[in-house]
Amino acid sequence: MKKLVSEILRHRRLYTAGKPEISDAEYDALERELERVAPNHPILQKVGSDLLSPQVGKVAHQIPMLSLGKTYEVEDLLEWAQDRPVVGTWKIDGVCLSLIYRGGALIQAKTRGDGLWGEEVSDKVAWILDCHPQLPAKAGAGEIEIRGELYCSEESFSHLLTEMEQMGLEPPSNPRNIVAGILGRKQHISLARFFSFFTFDALFPTGKAPFTTETQKYTWLQDCGFSTPFHETLQNKAEIEGFLQQVREQSSELDVGIDGAVFAFDELSLQASLGNTSHHPRYKLAFKWQGESAISTIREILWATSRLGIVTPVARIEPVVLSGAKISNVTLHNAAHVKGFHLKAGDQIELVRSGEVIPKFLRVVATQPGECHLPSQCPSCHGPLFFDEVRLLCENGTCLAQQFGLILNWIQCVGIDDLSEKRLQPLIDLGLVRIIADLYRLRMEDMLQLPLTKEKMAAKILANIEKTKTLSYAKFLSGLGIGGMGIVSWEKVLEHYPTLSDLQRASATDLVAIKGFAEKTAHQIVSGLHQRHQDIEALLAVGIRLEATKPRPTMGVLLGKSFVITGSLTRPRQEIEAAILAVGGKVGSKVTAKTTALIIADPQSTSSKAEDARNLGIALWSETELWDMLHPEENQNEQGTKM
Ligand SMILES: [Zn+2]
Repeated sequence: MKKLVSEILRHRRLYTAGKPEISDAEYDALERELERVAPNHPILQKVGSDLLSPQVGKVAHQIPMLSLGKTYEVEDLLEWAQDRPVVGTWKIDGVCLSLIYRGGALIQAKTRGDGLWGEEVSDKVAWILDCHPQLPAKAGAGEIEIRGELYCSEESFSHLLTEMEQMGLEPPSNPRNIVAGILGRKQHISLARFFSFFTFDALFPTGKAPFTTETQKYTWLQDCGFSTPFHETLQNKAEIEGFLQQVREQSSELDVGIDGAVFAFDELSLQASLGNTSHHPRYKLAFKWQGESAISTIREILWATSRLGIVTPVARIEPVVLSGAKISNVTLHNAAHVKGFHLKAGDQIELVRSGEVIPKFLRVVATQPGECHLPSQCPSCHGPLFFDEVRLLCENGTCLAQQFGLILNWIQCVGIDDLSEKRLQPLIDLGLVRIIADLYRLRMEDMLQLPLTKEKMAAKILANIEKTKTLSYAKFLSGLGIGGMGIVSWEKVLEHYPTLSDLQRASATDLVAIKGFAEKTAHQIVSGLHQRHQDIEALLAVGIRLEATKPRPTMGVLLGKSFVITGSLTRPRQEIEAAILAVGGKVGSKVTAKTTALIIADPQSTSSKAEDARNLGIALWSETELWDMLHPEENQNEQGTKM
């Protein structure tokens, strides 16, 4: 236990210093272990200030800044929320700040520190645009404490790295900890101007708050000119799950590091009656994506052009096992990360996996001497690349890699079975498929030109393609591969603009009016629909029929569970999908860490989808097992007769 305590304290100190050696999930596991063996240990009590750091040079928090209760399990989150309205928002990976205003003027800014004592950072905050020195008159003259998260966006991060390099400063070891690192500096404080501030709380220590719900609080913050993170008021469990999925979709394309979501009960009176434990408020809960990490060495860096023309770096690494799966590829995010961290073969890096299938680069552990290189040509079309200071872009509209990515994205979104990447490549090489709609023009003689494809398989693939001629609007639109838009985001837009022509008429301003859509996303939708106009026309011309999306059920035995169906089963695919959807479940086309089970005729199968599922530790269910879940009463009867 002594060892455990000293480990926890050591990691707390490293974390505060901006140099963590382990991931948050590993740290949480240490705390949980201590809680198990010594639930009343003093370092677990309160926020542990007296054990942590001397209070010399620190400033007190009038109202303690407690940390948040966390969970990695959706079930725990839903259990906590019951069916009470909550407000969900991004969990941003930054540094928590408190701004104190008196008479409308900012008089002090401090970090969370240990929750009771923070670091005064007023001098740095003066450089941050979002931390206003003055509140508008409507905020009143009493004391107001504004709390929020200070973070560094991807784009600012790359500019910051360039500037630090020019100044001869050593770059931070970890992009996640740059904010804490710079706040802790005595010099070069102007670097804080690269940071942004999202507010999420307003406290009135001496007066009454001018709002009674969490939702109104966000509106009030916005009215005072503060930036607020994406947030939404959620009425029930189904909406919470939809929100989590939407945040996950956003997180892969956003400029902001998000490692989960935070939920708070909407009614402030309910918040007050629930109160706090010694560590955290009972009315707020953070949901984090599991972030298991490992260390390995880069073998080489490969660059590939995506469907959006972004040339992204992937590191091939010495294989390591992470969350039960063997990992040999790690995404390095973008060109700015490779440049900023001088990444190259031989470097030792830490990687983290939080829900995504491909793990991400987290930090450099040990670096090799030598230069790092960014490609100057598109790896696919050899056209020139444009570096926008964050990403490398191939702007050649006829670039094959982009077309390939677009078509593959369609196949995965609408779920054309057996038409794998390996079969798509020769179809493109043979000139049989150039645009998405060409898939629907394929004939038997075309398919027979594919290597290792006999008549039976060819007929099966053609039938699978035919089955995707009737699609929901949301599936169709997500199949178009417009940046930042997954199926859940499209379903939201469709609630307001239910048909294609409605959508094509909507302007970015119209779309911003939809709850939860940022200006950037709205512009992406408008320009994306415009760019894909020819694809849309061509798809309708080959006979794609669109069906309105049915509203999601908000209850049922499979609520919150998601499934992937593969291969042929005894019932038609559409019937099985409908049965799952009717009881609150979801059907995806790709097995990810969040899939509940893969539905497959033979759970012992060694097909690639089955192997993917096994590698991710996902259950494989036969059709009978699924049916037993769908009809629990029948199942009980059966067991009854067996006995
Ligand atoms: Zn290209």
